[in-house]
Amino acid sequence: MRFSELLAPTLREVPAEAEIASHRLMLRAGLMRKAASGVYTFLPLGYRVLKKIMAIVREEMDAAGAQELMLPIIQPAELWHESGRWFDYGQEMFRLQDRHGREFCLGPTHEEIVTDVVRSEVRSYRQLPLIVYQIQNKYRDEIRPRFGVMRSREFIMKDAYSFDRDQEGLERSYDKMYRAYERIFARLGLKTRAVLADAGAIGGDDNHEFMVIAETGEAEIVYCTECSYAANVERAEAKPEQALPPETEAPPLEAVATPGVRTIAELEAFLSLPASRMIKTLIYRADGNPVAVLVRGDREVNEVKLKRVLGALAVEPADAATVEAVTGAPVGFAGPVGLQGVKVVADLEVPQVADGVTGANKADTHWIHVQYGRDYEADVVADVRVTVAGDACPHCGGRLEAARGIEVGHVFKLGTKYSEALGATYLDETGTERPMIMGCYGIGINRTMAAVIEQNHDERGISWPVSIAPYHVDLIVINPADAPQREAAEALYEKLWQTGIETVLDDRDERAGVKFNDADLIGFPFRVVVGPKSLAQGSVEIKERASGEQHVLGVEEAIEFLRERIAPALGRGGALVESRGGHPGL
Ligand code: ATP
Ligand code: MG
Repeated sequence: MRFSELLAPTLREVPAEAEIASHRLMLRAGLMRKAASGVYTFLPLGYRVLKKIMAIVREEMDAAGAQELMLPIIQPAELWHESGRWFDYGQEMFRLQDRHGREFCLGPTHEEIVTDVVRSEVRSYRQLPLIVYQIQNKYRDEIRPRFGVMRSREFIMKDAYSFDRDQEGLERSYDKMYRAYERIFARLGLKTRAVLADAGAIGGDDNHEFMVIAETGEAEIVYCTECSYAANVERAEAKPEQALPPETEAPPLEAVATPGVRTIAELEAFLSLPASRMIKTLIYRADGNPVAVLVRGDREVNEVKLKRVLGALAVEPADAATVEAVTGAPVGFAGPVGLQGVKVVADLEVPQVADGVTGANKADTHWIHVQYGRDYEADVVADVRVTVAGDACPHCGGRLEAARGIEVGHVFKLGTKYSEALGATYLDETGTERPMIMGCYGIGINRTMAAVIEQNHDERGISWPVSIAPYHVDLIVINPADAPQREAAEALYEKLWQTGIETVLDDRDERAGVKFNDADLIGFPFRVVVGPKSLAQGSVEIKERASGEQHVLGVEEAIEFLRERIAPALGRGGALVESRGGHPGL
């Protein structure tokens, strides 16, 4: 490809709307453009990267024995009614009607539709196990599309689904996918960490997210510094600090006047007591019903855990009117003592608070010397708080650390959630009908592309790993108007393509500086320069984007140098395919 003909509109300016490096660079390098909020067009260079990511994902899925198929994007509502998710999925689902008024959605995910086809076509244990996958657009009307393709409303996902006879079969399928993911991300040049995750609306219990550790990640994770435990904070457990309730009995309950003291910080200052002695009481609405949630004053409520503990579809903090109705006091003075007519959920640490402080459900008043079991009780005691750095690892007791991550992939053990709801059964060896045991496995292709940029860029631009670079080499002719320079570059261009090295020939009538800047911005792994100096010496100048190292080599040596560095990163076998692409640019 010749740069002069390439649709690669690079930008000098930093687009104002882009908050993170990958978003900025995808716009600046001319890889994509926004069509609407959370909806993007991929331009030729960007699309080449996407196709290479998809090719790697496809190779590893095929190698793991998964079979590629293509499910419809438009899905009938009936199937989602069968699973119960037509309502559960909520506003994230794009819904539409056909001319007859029949309801459909644009697939946000494909469990229903794949289970539908498998229940019809698979009847016998002999047809199992089965893993199918597709690479296709997904549609989710995200509340807050942001960071470019990190969280968009239309995006490409690889989604795979496994069907097994029994739990051991599922474990094997899950393991195959998990290992395929490790290979995929390694080939993409990504450093990832698999963490335990919450199952969300999909259901099932055992699952992992593959996280790219990055400051700009939206997910918070914790990991143990001593063992392999790592989890999304939505899911992360922590050992309660003390194992037993306090041994000493608190003095009798006593009301204290706390005029205008509403927050934990104000209370700490007013009473000169640490927040860990306070019992923070928050009123939530769980599927519309008020619930009182108690955590230690220095802790936060984890709404995902709370949702799971309550078995609720949605939980949200209650408004002031509800708080007043439930507690009989203005916001800031809620407490569990004497609280009636509402379910009370206490975090595991709360009963251990010795001699606590809490709101008295009365304006400008708190109780002190509060003790669990004596002065109040909870209906449910469970882990509902946010795990933080410094907590004890639930496995080994070691210290947990916190980090941020970008979730690029997800593997779930679904069990029989969908096979039971939709009646996907098979006949075993004895002729007994059994539900299939399912798993599902997603990778966000566009988000992965953005994550690669987050991990591989500098102030000058992107630095693509060879495996997914839009082209391997940017061949720059310093002055294309000079015939010997142009001819030398054209000859090298042809040889590189014949070797299977994907090359852009920058033949534009631009200053060398402009060409160099674009090379660094777009992030070709190698820049090769043909100019007057090199021409006189019969050599070319090679610069490696990632390390910045420069080499002056003879033409044949240069081709060999590039070949040695590029070939290992391509394909499972690592061989350059001689015929790959021919030389479409000529
Ligand atoms: P998140 O918690 O980030 O919303 P999710 O749990 O909804 O993700 P899954 O349903 O597990 O995501 O989807 C599988 C993969 O699809 C994710 O790991 C992610 O890489 C990608 N993905 C999900 N939502 C989006 C989105 N809005 N934009 C881009 N990629 C997405
Ligand atoms: Mg989501």
